[in-house]
Amino acid sequence: MRVIECMALARLRETIASGDTLTREAMEAEDHQDALLRSRAKFHLPPGLLYFDGNSLGPLPKKSRERLLRVIDREWGEDLVRSWNVHRWIDWPRTVGSKIAQLIGAESDEVVVADSTSVNLFKLMSAALELRPGRSVILSEDRQFPTDLYMAQGLAHLRTDVRMRTVERSQLTLALDEDVAVLVLTHVDYRSGQLHDMAAMTRAAHERGALVLWDLSHSTGALPVDLNGCYVDLAVGCGYKFLNGGPGAPGFLYVARRWQQRARSPLAGWLGHRSPFAFEPVYRPALGIERFRCGTPPILSLAAFDAALDLFDDLDLESVWSKAISLGDTFLALVEQQIMDPELKIACPLEGRQRGSQISLRHPQAFSVMQALIERGVVGDFREPDILRFGLGPLYTSHVNVWDAVQVLKQVLKSRAWDTQAFRVRKTVT
Ligand SMILES: *Cc1c(COP(=O)(O)O)cnc(C)c1O
Repeated sequence: MRVIECMALARLRETIASGDTLTREAMEAEDHQDALLRSRAKFHLPPGLLYFDGNSLGPLPKKSRERLLRVIDREWGEDLVRSWNVHRWIDWPRTVGSKIAQLIGAESDEVVVADSTSVNLFKLMSAALELRPGRSVILSEDRQFPTDLYMAQGLAHLRTDVRMRTVERSQLTLALDEDVAVLVLTHVDYRSGQLHDMAAMTRAAHERGALVLWDLSHSTGALPVDLNGCYVDLAVGCGYKFLNGGPGAPGFLYVARRWQQRARSPLAGWLGHRSPFAFEPVYRPALGIERFRCGTPPILSLAAFDAALDLFDDLDLESVWSKAISLGDTFLALVEQQIMDPELKIACPLEGRQRGSQISLRHPQAFSVMQALIERGVVGDFREPDILRFGLGPLYTSHVNVWDAVQVLKQVLKSRAWDTQAFRVRKTVT
């Protein structure tokens, strides 16, 4: 399915560019012609809820629920241990991985689903260090998502010859010296939504002899990624965000074919062995990407994840991203036109092509404001220190949804509904 750059979208763009006032009717017209919105019926979305947190937990695909019930009742319930062969459970990390490969510009034998994104970061950073003997630095950005930094710190703690270096984004190229073994970057910044130029940064790393490891947690399923086209060495990503794989869905990892025979996982689990069921006493890594598997895969999570990936079957990620940009541009235009609160600032790039699938706003009372929004059925999230984050899932979010959410935000700010003790109490998960 191709989403046509329809007339309504073109008109909407013009309106935004010209500064003319947007109307809810214009949003309705846009939704009417939005071919991607056909995917919306494939999700379970609670009525009345405006969901802008699919970048933290994607909504439940109806097929995932059906699939889980079948796997539980039939495969687990009836076929039991035979299912590893009969239903090919043992291959699922690879079969699910090959579906993801299609979304990130990789070959199907370059991606496997395993463990969590954090664990995969550890495995691939360690592999990268071994592939670059004589170099001891993991270079990253200071505003990187914490788990990426923590895992590198953990690795440096274990391997006292390894150091981690973090610099500001603008200093990254300068910091790439002959000590750097691997540059670890998040493609879409989780706070601001700002996108890195994958091709340029990969080239810069290679020019200095370093490898590159991209974290695709906020990119996969939201925008086109071309790992092979950018000659990327290593990558990891997340299953439960824009891929809608379900809470705690396993992560995935990519190792370019050219590195696979030399790259080694530090976690030499039996399912990464060349011949797991020979039960040999000594580890021998599997020949390809399989060597980055570790232990037994979480079959129920993989079942839900696999069904969720089918939603991308006929979609073209250029169109998915175009829609995200249109939703984001609309969101920003409405904030500009309708919200007068001087304390509310835009915290994401204005240019859609420099943004992932999210809008970030800044407000000194962002935490309380988000609590007030959530209470009114507009679910986004808060990120330290002052960010209101709204994920834009193009498969299920409409332009009318954006309009309605901005109206609630306007009302919350105008009435100062956020200004109550109840909305100041931090929960464990924000
Ligand atoms: C969400 C996210 C993760 C998640 O890691 P888990 O191990 O799945 O908890 C990692 N990195 C980035 C950049 C993320 O946005």
